[in-house]
Amino acid sequence: MALILLTNDDGIRAEGLWALEQHLSRHHEVWVVAPETEMSGASHSITLHRPVTLKPYGPRKFSLSGTPADCVLVALHAVLPDRPRAVISGINAGFNVGEDVFYSGTVAGAREAALLGVPALAVSVAPGADFQAALPFVDRVLDLLLREHRPLLLNLNLPQHRPVRGLKVVRLGNRSYVDPVHNQGGNRFVIGGTAQWQQDEGTDLWALSQGYAALTPLIVDLTSHEDLERLRRSLSG
Ligand code: MN
Repeated sequence: MALILLTNDDGIRAEGLWALEQHLSRHHEVWVVAPETEMSGASHSITLHRPVTLKPYGPRKFSLSGTPADCVLVALHAVLPDRPRAVISGINAGFNVGEDVFYSGTVAGAREAALLGVPALAVSVAPGADFQAALPFVDRVLDLLLREHRPLLLNLNLPQHRPVRGLKVVRLGNRSYVDPVHNQGGNRFVIGGTAQWQQDEGTDLWALSQGYAALTPLIVDLTSHEDLERLRRSLSG
């Protein structure tokens, strides 16, 4: 029985959040602090120039008029009775793979927890897929998270394929978007486009395309260690 915080970026009413909450409540003390409205694509933004409002949504459950990162910050500093053993963000309706991790509010919720030193997991499923198939994989990964000695930041994606063929631990792949800016006419633009997957072996996109769940360990340090030494040699002094 562990104290676990759930958040997401699809908002407090999202089905994926409650599938996760129901499942984990059987064995853990689960708290929920999730955005009042959908925050997909909010990335790691925080609300600085206005107060955010916390509203009760049920026992140990709250909505917040903010982003996923706001939710984790407020939960850890002002809501939870104790430090959580883990934070899980999701289950998101739609993949968060490759470069998506930069835009994703789901991943940012988990990353905020990691910044605060708490083990964290982001969970996403194929667009339109059921959430139930993700739950046994969440159990396995959460088990590992709770046993590790240092806080991990993990990104889990579930494929469309049923039954899921297994789990692969993989690196982030590349997913680019064709026509990411669509001109609707005049000065109106729609951001989005069509995703193009590069299925290099050993990547999350590859594992998902083969019918496997994809698990990627992430780090918060964005320093390019490769360039650090080179630039130090040529520019420092
Ligand atoms: Mn979302």
